[in-house]
Amino acid sequence: MTNKDLAELIFPNLEHDVEYYEAKYPNRNLESGCEVTRFAPSPTGYMHLGGFFQALIDFNIAKNSNGVFYLRNEDTDQKREVSDAVKLIMDTLKHYDIVPDEYEFEGNIVGEYGPYIQSERKEIYHAYIKRLIEIGRAYPCFCTKEELDDMRKNQESRKKRTGYYGVYSKCRNLSVDEQIKRIKEGIPYVIRFKSNGDFDKKIIFEDLVKGRLSLSENDIDDVIMKSDNMLPTYHFAHVVDDHLMHTTCVVRGEEWLPSVTKHIEMFNAFGFKPPKYIHTPLIVKKEGETVRKISKRKDPEASMSYYEENGYPTLAVIEALMTIINSNYEEWHTANPDKSFIEFKYSPKKMSSSGALFDLEKLNNISKDIISKMSKEELLDKSLTWAKVYDKELVDLIEKDKDYYMNIINIERVQKKPRKDYTTYADIKNYIWYMYDELFFDKDKDYQWQNIIDKEEIISVLDLYFDKYYDVNDDKDTWFNKMKEACEETGYCANMKEYKLNPDNYKGSIADFSMIIRVALTTKSMTPDLYEIMNLLGLDRIKKRIDILR
Ligand code: GLU
Repeated sequence: MTNKDLAELIFPNLEHDVEYYEAKYPNRNLESGCEVTRFAPSPTGYMHLGGFFQALIDFNIAKNSNGVFYLRNEDTDQKREVSDAVKLIMDTLKHYDIVPDEYEFEGNIVGEYGPYIQSERKEIYHAYIKRLIEIGRAYPCFCTKEELDDMRKNQESRKKRTGYYGVYSKCRNLSVDEQIKRIKEGIPYVIRFKSNGDFDKKIIFEDLVKGRLSLSENDIDDVIMKSDNMLPTYHFAHVVDDHLMHTTCVVRGEEWLPSVTKHIEMFNAFGFKPPKYIHTPLIVKKEGETVRKISKRKDPEASMSYYEENGYPTLAVIEALMTIINSNYEEWHTANPDKSFIEFKYSPKKMSSSGALFDLEKLNNISKDIISKMSKEELLDKSLTWAKVYDKELVDLIEKDKDYYMNIINIERVQKKPRKDYTTYADIKNYIWYMYDELFFDKDKDYQWQNIIDKEEIISVLDLYFDKYYDVNDDKDTWFNKMKEACEETGYCANMKEYKLNPDNYKGSIADFSMIIRVALTTKSMTPDLYEIMNLLGLDRIKKRIDILR
């Protein structure tokens, strides 16, 4: 009996062989220099910031080189319902406009190199595993879980490297006849790769981020096909898929770095050219004095849903990540404020190889800046889209009168240094609620009176000013002059210098005077431009606000 017989016994009557797939997925028709990248998440129903970070690098590399960025769903650990999880991934990528050129979604395959969902590629993997068995580079292993546990314990107690290698690889040297016999007896088995490596020898591996590394050759006979569902393990699927899909550059988390020698050995076993690799650092955060990994369990911001729910502009999240993807991004962005992040040329050399520090405070600043530069129409549009999912009350307020909403959010926006109140779309209502009567009169109000707190004084100032001076048709200068006149008439000082010299001659300054009006109309001691607020409210609504103080 030969390896060929063994291969045929394990994979009888496969419809296609390796040559068929090699011909079916020929080299991509791309010019040299075009990079093919992929985002290859396991559809777990959770989209981690670190995954999106990688997708952004993939996207940038592909777009910058006129290459291809594709999405491959790695669902060989089929423990969950995959379709919803794939939807979450696609929706997130679409939300950020990081749309793959090739993907598989809701039964549709876009691209010539699919299927792009691993569980649908079983026959392809089988053809390649079959070939490895035929050439003596893979074999069935019948070790039970108990045997493997004992082996590991034995290795640990004797301070040996753990794993299925050398003298520990019990099934490696079984004769083909024995292998066939056991399979025919129905003994369960997995398929292992037969490594030719020598752990005492080094290979030089060049990671684009981490540089040249000297790593021990792989000598572990890893499982490449599991017994229960006959699906491949990550290591094998990576080799076959990235080969057949012609990935030129693999961007993946640094937790895969220790496995890279296995992958290279497998590529070599087939005679395939391995891709370039970028092993990305962990995303870390500061907590007090310590820096730690952003964790799914502890940090809500580890999930991409956090940013959507909280109403961050997509660009803010992208920009914040770009600043930790490359140390020179901010400088580039400042020099090229109108260019899209896509035009920035990512350089693996300028990526931290130890940990990428993500800072929410920084994201907030970026976000404020981006929102402050949006036109009122854009901010209306984006905040309404957000509110439709997350804040029904805001939708009602906006839709009741879109112009009114735009006028409010536009106060102090169209100027050289636009006001930066809003960090997120979710934040807007906290800043503008008092401009809506339904919220203003409905709330328990916490008036932030400052120096002047006497009710009668407050009311008399308000009455005088609004009865005698305020006119909605006044331009800003006239409005301000009248404010000063009213200020003097009520015993406040319109001139700050004079007030500072003789404070006892006055009830207060113009600042105190206008504070009375500001707080009466909004409850807040800090608001955007009062002139605009008054004009948007109009005298009738202002009067009602004064009346409730009586
Ligand atoms: N499915 C693997 C993961 O989610 C992908 C690693 C890779 O990009 O190759 O970690």
